[in-house]
Parts: sequence; structure tokens; C-alpha cells
Amino acid sequence: MNKLHIVSNRLPFSIVTQQDQISLKPSVGGLATGMKSVYKDFEGRWIGWPGVATEDFSASDFEKIDTMLQKEGCETVPLSSYEVETFYEGFCNRTIWPLFHYFNQYVDYSPEFWESYVKVNQKFADKTIEVIDDGDYVWVHDYQLMLVPGMIKKKRPDIIIGFFLHIPFPSYEVFRFLPWRNEILEGLLGADLVGFHTYDYERHFLSSVRRLFGYEISFNRIHIEERIVLADAFPMGIDYDKFHNAALQTISKTLREKSQLHQELEKVFFVSPERKLILSIDRLDYSKGIPHRLRAFEKFLEKYPEYRTKATLVMLAVPSRNSVPQYQQLKREVEELVGRINGLYGSVNYSPVWYFYRSLPFENLVELYSMSDVALLTPVRDGMNLVAKEYVASRINQTGVMIISEMTGVVKEMAEAIVINPNNEDEVAEAIKQALEMPVDEQRARMAVIQNRLKRYDVFKWAEQFVASLKRIAQIQRDFI
Ligand code: UDP
Repeated sequence: MNKLHIVSNRLPFSIVTQQDQISLKPSVGGLATGMKSVYKDFEGRWIGWPGVATEDFSASDFEKIDTMLQKEGCETVPLSSYEVETFYEGFCNRTIWPLFHYFNQYVDYSPEFWESYVKVNQKFADKTIEVIDDGDYVWVHDYQLMLVPGMIKKKRPDIIIGFFLHIPFPSYEVFRFLPWRNEILEGLLGADLVGFHTYDYERHFLSSVRRLFGYEISFNRIHIEERIVLADAFPMGIDYDKFHNAALQTISKTLREKSQLHQELEKVFFVSPERKLILSIDRLDYSKGIPHRLRAFEKFLEKYPEYRTKATLVMLAVPSRNSVPQYQQLKREVEELVGRINGLYGSVNYSPVWYFYRSLPFENLVELYSMSDVALLTPVRDGMNLVAKEYVASRINQTGVMIISEMTGVVKEMAEAIVINPNNEDEVAEAIKQALEMPVDEQRARMAVIQNRLKRYDVFKWAEQFVASLKRIAQIQRDFI
């Protein structure tokens, strides 16, 4: 049996320590869900970092963690706190993340970060090589591990490797800023199949390959001496039924008993059928356009005073990358804006913006999706944006309006939403009004089309199609030789 091994920065478990007892907690994120079906079916191993630095545990405890993970089908790549700082917080989050999201002014090009990135990628590659048998497949994930395909291919040219990038691949004019652009491309070209969320990202990648290396490219096939590399688009889906079914349960539960969150909303923020809820959920990241959203909402309230008591923006900002200065600065900016809007337009019984700085458990998240009349998502750059898909999946009676930025990957699957440019605050303010006033029939007609699309191409289909392409490329590669 040919196995399929998954390689990603994080393993699909986190380590929990409670009263000196160490245990594993399975992750519920999109990747973990999508991969579960794939790697169980193929009996492969999952290679990754357990999310804790080696110094955080004694050697014997770390061994214990390693053994527990092994039993769950995982292979551990241990990272020291220096590596976490320079590889993960450094090159991944302070070099690649801002550059690939077009925030060139935030990029830190420290050679120390790059050196650590190379070393850590080699660790992941070595661990993968240890577990590979002849004829196995490998699927490497995301921007933390872009050198891994090349490193594996160098030692095992016979192994078919897939790579999927979960963030945007920027235009060549941005990618070229990177001092190590050639090394990154060489790393990616070690894969036989390179996948992206959208055709645009794929095009940017192909154009960078053409401009930097001059390889011959026909359609989406790159010809490199004795082999070919295929680039393709696979928009990642969600576990649609999980959200849809949870929303169904939420609604029937709300009819019986209102959750604490629901009661809190009603009591503190005076939610009533006349007051519409506009939802905004993201990690507190500068790529998400959160200040843009707040300014547009402020403009909306300024321009349409009749809505000053009738629309509340529920803003959930999930803490993220607190150690990076730009994230701390963003937090201050967002809190100032929230304070300003609430100060300007709030009253004893009306809060224009309800702001949470925390994450919510799944049930509450679905509850928020279900309760909100409008979803307002305005990233200035976003590889996909799964929140948009989760909102749609949670709309049981097909009402609700999505306002989505044209700078997201998800917009390609949501032409029926209200599509906006987040930098155009007037346009966003008008979109909020249009969404709040949209007739129910129109809401349903638009929502039904998007729902059908997302239900058909869920995260399981996404994984299945990627693996099917990987197998096809194995055949193409054989024919090519
Ligand atoms: N999410 C979560 N808890 C929260 C808020 C969000 O688990 O309190 C999840 C949400 O369900 C979604 C993910 O975080 O699956 C965010 O993914 P997205 O693609 O929108 O953005 P990313 O954070 O990956 O840039």
C-alpha cells in the first residue's frame, strides 16, 4: 500500500498540562479536519512540531509527549525556543507573512531568521525522509515549510511530493523583494504538484518561476530538465455539514433555552428584533482590514443617523502574535477606534460596537453566525477567509447578507455576495446600508447559490481532489521519463 504522509508546521494536537499530567488535545482547525480523512485512509504519518519548545519540558516529559504522539500517528520535530523565535516568530511571521500579504513596510529581512528557516526546514525534511518507504506520497503544507519539498527531492527523487500554500502567493513585483527568492522557488519546485487557493496565486507563482529561472511553461506545467512540476488551484473548503448541523441545533436550542452569550447580548446590548447585528470575526491581524471596517462603520453611522440605534457591529478579534510590535500597535489602534465610535454614537441603551478581544468556543461561534443579519469581512489581503464560508454554512433559513473584500481568496466563490474594496470606505458604508435593507427574497436567492457551491466543494472534497491530482502527476511523471 502506498502511504501518504502529511508534513505541516503544527501537528494536529496541542499539549495540555494539568496538575503535572500531560495530555493531548486534538485540534479542530480546518487543516486538521480535512487531513484526518486523508491520512487515516492512507495509513501515513503526520510530521510536525507539537507547539511547545523543548526547553518547556524535561527530557523525560518530552519523550513521553513524543511517545503519545507516535501512538496517534504523528512524528515529532522538536524545536528549541531559539528556533521558535527565529524560524516561526521570525522568518515565518515577520518576513514571509507580511511580504506575501503585500505589507512590505513590515518585513524584517534578518539573515539570522533566514538561517534558522533553512535549518528548521532541513529538520522537517530529515524526519520525513526517515519515515518514507518506496512508492509513498508526501503532502507538505504552507509557508513555514517552503524549502522542504526541494530538500526531500534531493535525497529521494523517486518520491512524489505535493505542496499546498495556504496564504496568497504575491505578484512577482512583490516576491522579488525577498533576498532568498531563488532558494524559496527552488524549494517549492522540489514538489511535483504545487497547489494554491486561487488561479491568481498560481499565475503569480508561474510568472515568478518564468522571470527568475526562465523555465519553459506550457499552460500550468513547468518543464525542468527531466521532470515536470504542475501548478494548480484548489480552493480550500470547510466542514460544511458540521457548521450547518451545529446551527440547526443552536436554533432549536435557542427556542428552548437561551445561552449565556445570547442573554448577555440581549441584556447588555439591548438586542431586539428591530436592532440588526453586523458580524465581524478575525484574528487581530493587520491583513484583515479591521481599522478599515471600523472607519467604514463610523462613516455609515455618520451618513445614516436613522441607523444609530438600529445597527450594532459585533466585533470578535482573536488575539494573535502578541510578540510582534505591529500586532501590539494594531490592537491599540482598533481599541481607540472602538472607543471613539462608541463615544460618538453610543447612548445609555445603545452600543454601536460590541468588541471582544478573545476567542470563542465553537458553539458560541456558530451562535454568533446564526444571530447575525450581516457578515462584514474586509481583509486588505487574505489567502482564503474561512470565516466567510462558515457564516454561509450556518445560515439555516438562507437569510443573511455577506459583504466581502475583493482582496480575499474566498471572493472567487462568492460572486453573489456584496463585493467591496476595503480601502474605499464610502463604498463599504453604502454596502452596509444595502445589506441591511436587502429584501429577504433577494437574501435567500443569493445565499442559496453560495450555499450549494460550498456544500459541494467542502474540505473533504478539497483534500480528495488534491490527492487525486498527486496520483495523476505520478503517472504523468512516469510517462514523461
Ligand atoms: N475561529 C476560532 N475561534 C474563534 C474565532 C475564529 O476557532 O474565536 C476560527 C474560525 O472558525 C476559522 C478560523 O478561526 O476557521 C479563521 O480562519 P480564516 O481562514 O478566516 O483566517 P486565518 O486566521 O486562518 O487567517
